[in-house]
Amino acid sequence: MGKVEFKAESKKLLDMVINSIYSQREVFLRELISNASDAIDKIYYRALTDENLTFDKDSYFIKLDANKDTRTLTVTDTGIGMTKEEMESNLGIIAKSGSHQFKEENEIKDGHDIIGQFGVGFYAAFMVADKVTVLSRSIDSDAAFKWESNGPDGYTIEPAEKNEVGTEIILHIKENEEEENYDEFLEEYRLKQIVKKYSDFIRYPIKMDVTESQLKEGTEDEYEDVITEETLNTMVPIWKKNKSELTDEDYVNFYNEKHYGFDKPLKHIHINVDGAVRYNAILYIPESAPYNYYTKEYEKGLELYSNGVLIMEKSPDLLPDYFSFVKGLVDSEDLSLNISREMLQHDRQLKTIAKNINKKIKQQLTQILKNDREGYERFYNSFGQQLKFGVYSDFGQHKEELQDLVLFYSSKEKKLVTLEEYVGRMPEEQKYIYYAQGDTVDRIDKLPQTELVKDKGYEILYFTDEIDEFAIRMLMSYKEKEFKSVSSGDLGIEPDEKEKEEEKEAAKEHEELFTKMKEILAGKVKDVRASKRLKSHPVVLTADGDISIEMEKIINAMPDDQQIKAEKVLELNVNHDIFKALEKTKDQGEEQLALYTNLLYNQALLIEGLPIEDPVAFTNDICKVMI
Ligand code: ADP
Ligand code: MG
Repeated sequence: MGKVEFKAESKKLLDMVINSIYSQREVFLRELISNASDAIDKIYYRALTDENLTFDKDSYFIKLDANKDTRTLTVTDTGIGMTKEEMESNLGIIAKSGSHQFKEENEIKDGHDIIGQFGVGFYAAFMVADKVTVLSRSIDSDAAFKWESNGPDGYTIEPAEKNEVGTEIILHIKENEEEENYDEFLEEYRLKQIVKKYSDFIRYPIKMDVTESQLKEGTEDEYEDVITEETLNTMVPIWKKNKSELTDEDYVNFYNEKHYGFDKPLKHIHINVDGAVRYNAILYIPESAPYNYYTKEYEKGLELYSNGVLIMEKSPDLLPDYFSFVKGLVDSEDLSLNISREMLQHDRQLKTIAKNINKKIKQQLTQILKNDREGYERFYNSFGQQLKFGVYSDFGQHKEELQDLVLFYSSKEKKLVTLEEYVGRMPEEQKYIYYAQGDTVDRIDKLPQTELVKDKGYEILYFTDEIDEFAIRMLMSYKEKEFKSVSSGDLGIEPDEKEKEEEKEAAKEHEELFTKMKEILAGKVKDVRASKRLKSHPVVLTADGDISIEMEKIINAMPDDQQIKAEKVLELNVNHDIFKALEKTKDQGEEQLALYTNLLYNQALLIEGLPIEDPVAFTNDICKVMI
C-alpha cells in the first residue's frame, strides 16, 4: 500500500501539536500508556459478557523498552489490538468532533489545549519522535499490521508479523536539537519519573527492565549489570488513596490525564463514604467551559467504577443537568458488575449516591462563593448560564436549591452580585428587586427606563443573558421580594402627593394629543402616556401585561416559534423640550404630528434594540425634519 495522506485538517492539527511550544513534552507517555490501558480495559469488558473469554489479570500488562542504540522507545500492551480498518480510522484521522471545532476556531496556540480538548492523544507521540511505528494484532483477527508515519505527510499500512494479540508502539526518538534534549526519553530514571507522575494509578502493571550495576558474586570490586523487571506504578487508584496522601498537584495531574478538561480545575472534591452505601468519588469543578458545552453535542456524566473497574464512561444519572459541568468519577463496591445500564438507572444505590453528590457540589460551590469570590466569578462566567437555566427548567423545581448560586451584574456595585447581597442592602421603602434587560451592560446602563429607579437610589440588576428574565420569572421572588422590570407599567414607586397631582393634570391636559398619537400608531402600540420614569430622555417604550419587550425579542428570534407581541406603550417625557415641539403641532397640522409621532416611536424602537419596520420611511422622516 502506498502512502495515505492525512485529511487536511488532521494534518494541520498534527502540525500544531508537533510544533507548538509545548511546555511538557513528557505527557506523550501519559497518552500512550492511557491508550494501552484503555485497550486492556476493552478486553476486560469483553470478558464480562463473552463466556469464551476469560480475563487472567496476570497476562495483561504494559511494557516500556528504551533502547539507546536504536534510539527507540517502545510501549507494548497486551490489549485488544487494532485491525487494519481500525488503524485507518483511529490513527488516520483526528477525533471527528475535534476536527469539526478546529475548523471553526483556527487559533489555538498551546499544544496542551489541543491535546486536552480534542483527545488527539496518540499524536502527542510526534512531539518526541520523528517516526512512529504501530504494530498491532486485533483480538478479532489472525493477521497483524504495521502502521507507520513520519508525521504530517501521511502514513502507510502493511501486513506484518505478530504472534500475540496487542499493540506495540515504537517511537523513533528525535535527535537532540540545539535547545531541545530528546535523549532524556531514553533514560530509565526519566521514564520512571514520568510514569510515577502521571500514570501511577493505572490499573495494570507498567513494567520496564531496569539495569542495575551490582557487585559480582564472589568478587569484591567487580561490578556487573543486572537486569530486573520492575513494575513502575503502584496501581492504587487515586480515589482509593487517603486525602492526606495526596497533593493538589496530584489532583490536577489526574484531571489532565483523564482529559476531564484542558484547563486547571477550580476545585476538587474527594469523597470517601463508608456508610450504608459505600463509595469513593473525585469530582472537579472546572473553571472554563469545553468548547461544545452549550451545544447538544455535550454529554454530561461521571465515570462509574465498580470496585476499581470502569463500568460506564459517562453515567448521566449521577449529575443533574444544572451541574452538568462537573467532571470526575464515582467508584462503589456496592454496584453489581453484571447489571445492565437500564437497570443501573433505577438502582437505588446509585440514586443515593447521586443525591449525596449533588449535595456536596452545592456545598462546594457555596464555599467557593464565600471564600474565593474571584474564582467563583471565573467559574460563573463559564457556567452561570447553566445554573440560571437550572432555575428555569423543570418548572422551577430546583429554583430554591440554586437561587443563592446565581449572580447578576449590579448597577451600583458594577460587578456581579448575589440576590442575597441585593436584598440585604435594599432601603426599607423599596418594594421590589429591580432589573433591566439588554444586550450588554453598557447598553442597559444607558436605557431611559432605568432613570427613575436609579434616581431613587435603587440598585438595578442588569440582565444580559437571554435566560435571565425567564429564570427570574420562574423564581418570582427572593426572600419575599418580588422582581420587577424597570420597563414594567407599574414600577411600585409611589409618587408623593404633589407628583400625583401633576400626573393627573398632565394626563388630562394632554389627553387629546395622546389620543391622536395613539391613532397614528394604531396596531403598533396599545397606549401613549405621560411617563413617570423618564428624567432626561424624551421617549421610551414599555410593556403592559406579562410579556416584556425583551421576551418578545427572544421568543421571536427562536426558529419555528409562533410570533408573540408585547403590549407596547409609548411613554413621553412631558417635561422634555421635545414634548413642546409635539404640542406646537397643534398649529402646524396633523401631518406634522404624524411625522413627529412616527419619529419618536422609531427612536423608541431603536433604543429597545427592536427593528424599525420601515427604515426608508424613517430616514425620509429625518430628512423632512432637517430641511
Ligand atoms: P482517544 O484515546 O481519546 O480515543 P487517541 O488519539 O489517544 O484518542 O487514540 C485514538 C484511538 O486509537 C483510540 O481511541 C483507540 O481506538 C486507538 N488506539 C490508540 N492506541 C491504542 C492501543 N494501544 N491499542 C488499541 N487501540 C489503540
Ligand atoms: Mg488516548
